[in-house]
Amino acid sequence: MKKIFFTPGPGQLYPTYKKHVRKSVEEFIGSISHRSEKFHKIYEGVVEGLRKLLKIPKNYHIFFTGSSIESMERIIENTVFQTSAHLVNGAFSEKFLQIASDLKKHAIKIEIDIENIDFDKIVIPEEAEIVCITENETSTGVAIPFAEIAKLKNRYKDKLFAIDCVSSVPSVKIDFSCVDMFFFSVQKGFGLPAGLGVLVINDRSINKSIELMKDGVNVGSYHKFGEYLEKAEKFETPETPNVLNIFLLEKVIGDMLKKGFETIYKETAAKSKLIYDFFDKHPTHKPFIKNIKYRSNTTIIIDVTKDGGVVRKRLAELGLIVGSGYGKYKDNQIRIANFPAHKLVDVKKLLKSFK
Ligand SMILES: *Cc1c(COP(=O)(O)O)cnc(C)c1O
Repeated sequence: MKKIFFTPGPGQLYPTYKKHVRKSVEEFIGSISHRSEKFHKIYEGVVEGLRKLLKIPKNYHIFFTGSSIESMERIIENTVFQTSAHLVNGAFSEKFLQIASDLKKHAIKIEIDIENIDFDKIVIPEEAEIVCITENETSTGVAIPFAEIAKLKNRYKDKLFAIDCVSSVPSVKIDFSCVDMFFFSVQKGFGLPAGLGVLVINDRSINKSIELMKDGVNVGSYHKFGEYLEKAEKFETPETPNVLNIFLLEKVIGDMLKKGFETIYKETAAKSKLIYDFFDKHPTHKPFIKNIKYRSNTTIIIDVTKDGGVVRKRLAELGLIVGSGYGKYKDNQIRIANFPAHKLVDVKKLLKSFK
């Protein structure tokens, strides 16, 4: 049976996935050296492609990690001497906080209630060196608009801002004026198998890491920012990376560039509107986030009042796989991903099956 995965990562693979995997076999990608010219070209292709697709400015550098959880750890290790502040509104922002605390930093939790939030009233403690924000919280379906993040950054210009955009890239317009570091994983918006993260950081973040290192602070080993940069300038990585996935990423970015960022962005918004409009009118299944301003376009959470298991089973029989609720909401909610790999016809098919 044909299956369509609406799970918020891993999930639906990008439509050209099969073609590119075949190509990777023909080109012996699984065997090439990560110090070879061939690999340099692939890495360079990802860098140039991402710069175009996401409009990443020149003073930002693009590194590979094993996953986004790793990116969180690298950010804390490399840029925090003592104190980090975290806006927390779900499981992934909580994870970022936990990582800082595990690394023995003073991790300050700033809990935000998205249904009653006023970003102008958020106070970041003086001692915080960085502010960590989950722009698209996959566990709760909340997206914080970059306009709000920019206002906050404006009040705290001296602090580094680290933004988790894991489940919104590439369907989001990143405002680089308020981002020092951001990261994502390829199993979300790029429709690829898991096991590769991308970490994008500016010169200021790299300099912080180098300063800490000079002061004798532990900033990690092979993935300290200074070493990352040295290697990245030659389009290499300190370790043997996930060459196959990096190859596939270069290809998918190429496909996305052909389609164009604006088209992807508009299609995502249109599919999202269709989904929210449908459930806003549904008699029993309702969008979890009521405040329209903070609704995610890419990870949509629907309250299904204890019927989650039943709903998911019924949909699965039709080949439609949706995500369960996160953590304690496992059976009270379902999660629907709306990534570039999801076609409009597939979304319509999913909604029709709820009637
Ligand atoms: C999936 C996800 C992560 C974790 O990504 P991994 O690749 O599993 O490390 C982090 N943050 C958000 C918002 C996510 O959706």
